[in-house]
Amino acid sequence: MKIIKLPGQLQKICFDLIKKGKTVGLVPTMGALHAGHISLIKKSVSQNDFTVVSVYVNPIQFGPNEDFNKYPRPIENDIKICKENKVDFLFLPTNETLYGKNFSTYVNVENLSQIMCGVTRPIHFRGVATVVTKLLNIAQADRAYFGMKDYQQYIIIKKMVEDLNIRTKIIGCPIVREKTGIALSSRNTYLSAEAKAEANGIYRALCEAKKEIAAGKKLDAVKKNLEKNILKIKDAKIDYVELRNADTLEPVFLSKPSKPSAKNDKKVLAAVAVKVGNVRLIDNIVERLKS
Ligand code: AMP
Repeated sequence: MKIIKLPGQLQKICFDLIKKGKTVGLVPTMGALHAGHISLIKKSVSQNDFTVVSVYVNPIQFGPNEDFNKYPRPIENDIKICKENKVDFLFLPTNETLYGKNFSTYVNVENLSQIMCGVTRPIHFRGVATVVTKLLNIAQADRAYFGMKDYQQYIIIKKMVEDLNIRTKIIGCPIVREKTGIALSSRNTYLSAEAKAEANGIYRALCEAKKEIAAGKKLDAVKKNLEKNILKIKDAKIDYVELRNADTLEPVFLSKPSKPSAKNDKKVLAAVAVKVGNVRLIDNIVERLKS
């Protein structure tokens, strides 16, 4: 595995590979790699001739009072995990090499970036869309892999690639969870053992909502019950609980029986952002409406 720090160097290598007819898969991460990231890496390795993993804690996607400084950065372990999983190129840019002086060009996916997580994190998705555009341009990836754990991010990146005619195919990968239910996240290290045990309740609540959607329960009742179940978690504060069209993130009609009303309105996303103590966690499920 080759470690590359300079964007220009990686871009040259990837251009040369593509000229030779090779395929390149990209897995963008912020590091502190866990089994969720590894599932993306494995998929890329299985589908492409070469896999690039980027590890970069992107400052422009963090708000002023967020956890940029305390975000975990166990780089030696990340290197080990990448080697063990047959990554070809590990890209470790720095703020200086990636953004340079007077960086002033941003990518903003309108509307989709302002809802859900965008309400309390207004600059977050602009930062994500900008860094992902840069990474896709640098790696010239044929495919890029994103976890459905960050479902809104996955939909935003798909829209961005479509709108900007970027040639990369965006591959969504299922959420990897601990046996107890909690979705794996680098931020889970912020949770105490007790809070982590409590946080498993988020997945239990989502599973109940999933069953209710599949059974055809009215979506406003599904939403209310989901909120109620989440509030049973000790020290939980809801940031949002939302039911939306899983393809477009448009609102679903809560008051109607949960039947599909249009061709692309068949899958519902139930997404939540919850603070357990002072740790903000996101999770979701997708379920097909009963037809
Ligand atoms: P992050 O390092 O948190 O920016 O995540 C990098 C990529 O890994 C994103 O596409 C995430 O959605 C994905 N990811 C993070 N946690 C999980 C998980 N538990 N299951 C699947 N994918 C995940």
